[in-house]
Amino acid sequence: MAPRITVVEDEEALSILLRYNLESEGYVVDTIARGDEADLRLKEQVPDLLLLDWMLPGLSGVELCRRLRGRPETERLPIIMLTARGEESERVRGLSTGADDYVVKPFSTPELMARVRAMLRRVKPERISSQLVAGDIDLDRETHRVRRAGRELKLGPTEFKLLEFLMQSPGRVFSREQLLDGVWGRDIYVDERTVDVHVGRLRKAVNRGRQRDPIRTVRGAGYALDETFTAAAPRVAARSETA
Ligand code: CA
Repeated sequence: MAPRITVVEDEEALSILLRYNLESEGYVVDTIARGDEADLRLKEQVPDLLLLDWMLPGLSGVELCRRLRGRPETERLPIIMLTARGEESERVRGLSTGADDYVVKPFSTPELMARVRAMLRRVKPERISSQLVAGDIDLDRETHRVRRAGRELKLGPTEFKLLEFLMQSPGRVFSREQLLDGVWGRDIYVDERTVDVHVGRLRKAVNRGRQRDPIRTVRGAGYALDETFTAAAPRVAARSETA
């Protein structure tokens, strides 16, 4: 099951951006705009990680954090606080109220995603494995090795990231624009046809002879990791670390 992340943020644009990026990484996301509402909802359901804004209507992030730490069911909930720039003393207070980490706005989205991943790996290593498996393909995020049916594949860095991105959400169709955002990053200008070129290279590296193509081209929409490939293909590859 995908890790569940709750975002408590009253700036709508930021909340939408966070949801988009977190969902692209395969997380299940809940967004809440008010501190008091978050307080109530977190009594009903506890996520795997909380992204908490400092300044919120209803109840401040600091106070909410304090309350969460006071309740046994959220005492150890991983919390990343989002604070405004330059509030040095407040940042320290953020940590002393029990947040595990903080990021300063405006932050870089890839950096925040990396912190989220790192924190989940620390607290829930079984949920955010370094290894992704789809059918007979194994991808290891830490060693950057990819194997198909036990045979190591040689992928360029972009093809690796592209495959990793697709394997995080089997079945989900990504447009070329979404792939550019997710794999190349938002700040880089790359022509959408570049995506086709790299998908072509990835296919060439992954498929040999009559091996089944794990990547599905959806006309007019984009690309997906074929979810029937994930379900049906035999798991030949050895999964040593999970044994
Ligand atoms: Ca705010």
